[in-house]
Amino acid sequence: MKINNGFNSWNTPYLFQAMEDTMASFTEEQRARIISLGIGDPDIETPAPIRRRIMQEHREVYHGYPTAQGRLDLREAISKYYQNRFNVQVSAREVFVGSGAKTDLFDLNAVFSRPGDSVVILDPAYPVYRDAALYRGNKIVYISGTLANRYQPELPDETQLHDLALIYLCYPNNPTGADADADYIQSMIDLARKHKAMIVMDIAYADFVPGNTPSSAFSIFQFPGGDEVGIEVASFSKPFSMTGDRISWVTIKNPEAARFWHRYRANRDSGASNYDQVGALEALTSPEVKSIVHENFNTYGRRARILKDGLDTLGFQWTGLTNTPYAWFKVPGSDDIETARKILEEVGVILTPGSGFGPAGRGFLRATVFQPESRLEEAISRLKRFDFESA
Ligand code: PLP
Repeated sequence: MKINNGFNSWNTPYLFQAMEDTMASFTEEQRARIISLGIGDPDIETPAPIRRRIMQEHREVYHGYPTAQGRLDLREAISKYYQNRFNVQVSAREVFVGSGAKTDLFDLNAVFSRPGDSVVILDPAYPVYRDAALYRGNKIVYISGTLANRYQPELPDETQLHDLALIYLCYPNNPTGADADADYIQSMIDLARKHKAMIVMDIAYADFVPGNTPSSAFSIFQFPGGDEVGIEVASFSKPFSMTGDRISWVTIKNPEAARFWHRYRANRDSGASNYDQVGALEALTSPEVKSIVHENFNTYGRRARILKDGLDTLGFQWTGLTNTPYAWFKVPGSDDIETARKILEEVGVILTPGSGFGPAGRGFLRATVFQPESRLEEAISRLKRFDFESA
């Protein structure tokens, strides 16, 4: 058997899998007491009109294979979304419906980089950018975010770059909740253009706004040069509670890049599920869904308040909770994995260790708002009983 060498570099268990393994070691009674603020999976159900529409389509319409690029009506709704949301012109031709942003983010690496090429990865960030690069055999160049640089790290040292192929960015950011300044994004675009590289801009959280606060999200296509180097990845998962449906999109305005992505998608799979696409269309177009999502964001806003107040009382420096469902906070000591393990063992709360998001996440933990208010209050009071200083 010959195995892709990339597996040799996957020497840490996948972050979320590791958490599940720990859970599996508990008795059923212990498990029932645990409050998970770990994985970013909305606990509020998918809006009823979306589910109704998917079921109706299943009942009434037989579909064969989907098209590789996605339904035209959905792609048209996405181009309308760009117009209304970002005041950007995107044609349906430039939109590629996908089966989840995670898959898209992984696959983009396969099309737009070669083994040995440099790939710049924002750190800390969603682990899939790194894992795709390791699997591919890219040279990873981390750019390290800190509280001091507001998670907009300095541009990479260009002497480190060998055939720069891709820059992975994510704002609003998972896990830190950070936003980016316009001149920061512009400097990244300029760097990509100089090296004939592409930017993968992950906007999975562009429409996740706890408390319906004004969002600072942007599209890369709002910036000069963004059309040439931008590949934007968006997801229906978080704002519409559609993580189980697996539906996303990729927008590419550079015609040559779009052609390669289209060709790849047509060979790689047979398109996103027709039923999920119908659900996604309902998500973008139904006024009823809009008002349900508004209500859900009010709920997430109240939950975010509980976390904010709790973390303040605990005396931790935190970011996030405004444009993302996550609180990101610094804990005493630097071994966040051990601290998270002790918290789980001693007070039964699951938090995600920051190092899983990259080297710059060391010493941090992440908590989500995906638990009802009473559970979040209980989680905070348990954390108050935990001795962080000697963890
Ligand atoms: N991008 C980011 C930044 C995420 O945090 C996540 C999920 O947590 C995804 C993409 C994956 O989205 P999807 O459910 O569409 O695969």
